[in-house]
Amino acid sequence: MDERDKRRIGEQVEPGGRPKAPGRLELLQRFVNSYNHDLPREWDRIGTAEKAQVWLREKRLLAPGDRVSGADAARLRELREAIRALAIANHGEPPVAAALEVVRAAAESARLSVTLDDEGRTALEPATRGVGGAVATLLGILHEAQLSGHWLRMKGCRQCGYAFFDRSKNRSAAWCAMSICGNRTKNRAYYRRRASR
Ligand SMILES: [Zn+2]
Repeated sequence: MDERDKRRIGEQVEPGGRPKAPGRLELLQRFVNSYNHDLPREWDRIGTAEKAQVWLREKRLLAPGDRVSGADAARLRELREAIRALAIANHGEPPVAAALEVVRAAAESARLSVTLDDEGRTALEPATRGVGGAVATLLGILHEAQLSGHWLRMKGCRQCGYAFFDRSKNRSAAWCAMSICGNRTKNRAYYRRRASR
């Protein structure tokens, strides 16, 4: 993969060519994948207040005119890593306590309301604007995905933490793309076995 493709990972490019998560869960997936820990820090799409503002507006999570502060961006990055930890826990381990605390604190201040459209369909919509509204939307998506069962298929790669949607029959996928992370993990296991001999 060349640098141009690497920079597009999480948005235009998915490792292994996997389709993105279904429905609104795709947005939460893009949020977690706004940074990949194997890539340079400065590529973080919400790494600064300015970048976070651009990213949230692009995703319609923020209305034009609403602003993002440095503290907001830091809070968003913290929430992102906590949601990543929940996705990693979907491999079957209990979630990390610190991550639960972060998501819980965000959920306590998030305001959502149930809306009804002309066809009688309900939806969870943020009750406030700004970054608080964006956080509420993301948590609403997390909740919906848990109700639908899709959340269990949202996995954090065991190697790099990349959030991918596991479409395998028995929900057994462990890595974002076998060719990158899977092989790396297998190679390490191979060398460990050899070294222990
Ligand atoms: Zn990976």
